Amino acid sequence: MPLERSRAVFEIPRIAIECESLVSSTIMNFMKSPSPFKSGFVAIVGRPNVGKSTLLNYLARRKVAVISDKPQTTRFKVKAIVNTESAQVVLIDTPGLHKPRDPLGEKLNEAVREAYREVDAIVFVVDAFEGIGGGDAYIAKELSAIETPVILTLNKIDKVDRERLSQQLDLSKNLACLETALPISAVTGENVDILLERIISLLPEGPKYYPDDAITDQPEGMIIAEFIREKVFELTEEEVPYSAAVEVQEISPRKDAELIDVSAVIYVERESQKGIIIGKGGSKLKEIGSRARADIERLLGSHIYLDLRVKVRKEWRRDEASVRRFGYG
Ligand code: GDP
Ligand code: MG
Repeated sequence: MPLERSRAVFEIPRIAIECESLVSSTIMNFMKSPSPFKSGFVAIVGRPNVGKSTLLNYLARRKVAVISDKPQTTRFKVKAIVNTESAQVVLIDTPGLHKPRDPLGEKLNEAVREAYREVDAIVFVVDAFEGIGGGDAYIAKELSAIETPVILTLNKIDKVDRERLSQQLDLSKNLACLETALPISAVTGENVDILLERIISLLPEGPKYYPDDAITDQPEGMIIAEFIREKVFELTEEEVPYSAAVEVQEISPRKDAELIDVSAVIYVERESQKGIIIGKGGSKLKEIGSRARADIERLLGSHIYLDLRVKVRKEWRRDEASVRRFGYG
């Protein structure tokens, strides 16, 4: 009984505080007439390697998409969420448009076009260092055929001199129906705040789709698989990274320890590729695993035990069922 009473006493002031804050926020609303909350979906598009994933990560301030020196490591849409006081921006990272050579390529292009149509705004990234070229013109043409508003951004300005920058800005005016590009650096963050403002200005009034602490709605297994595949890209050459798919099979916290067991399989198309990924005495696989572990631990906020294996699945890229199973469909 004394316990019950003390609980009741404790609850009263809490309710009082809640009422008070409700009243004061209502008064504030009358005084300020705040602008409505905005939200929407935004695709970041552009040629491979222009810096789409880097930009997405800068905006989301956490490693969600996969960054690599080699093109096309982002094979599926990754959503990251940017919350500001007045808006929620849900970013979709898409793979680059490219000439399809197999069922996977077809599916990738279709996924990109679908994103173009479904979002509220598109950030079209071009690369000041590599220079604006035919590939960009091709994408610009695709974009001008749809109604979604486009913000053209010229990335990597930290890597070019003034002369190059103004030359590339001039070139950007020729990209079909688009305004002069906004110069940015996804690495240093220069002008990224201006970009974010412009994005928000294009969004409709809308609700918070995700809670404040949600950074991505990709299942964790997919993100972890992409972390591992990113390391395969960093550490192997030529066709090997492109023939690797990663499937996460288990993510299970141990009962009595602050440790999560993660097991994953790297699938490759040939025995020779398996040998390359394993490396001499298992050295390459060990390096892939230890680099991936750092990212996974940051993602999960826990120590992990990573069980990583390599298996051969012949010609999986030509097999639609495998492409779908690995989440690339
Ligand atoms: P994506 O294929 O378009 O997603 O390109 P990534 O984000 O994977 O970037 C490709 C490469 O360009 C990586 O090595 C990045 O570090 C680099 N990169 C991206 N943005 C910038 C930038 O603003 N400045 C510089 N110097 N490098 C960048
Ligand atoms: Mg990418």
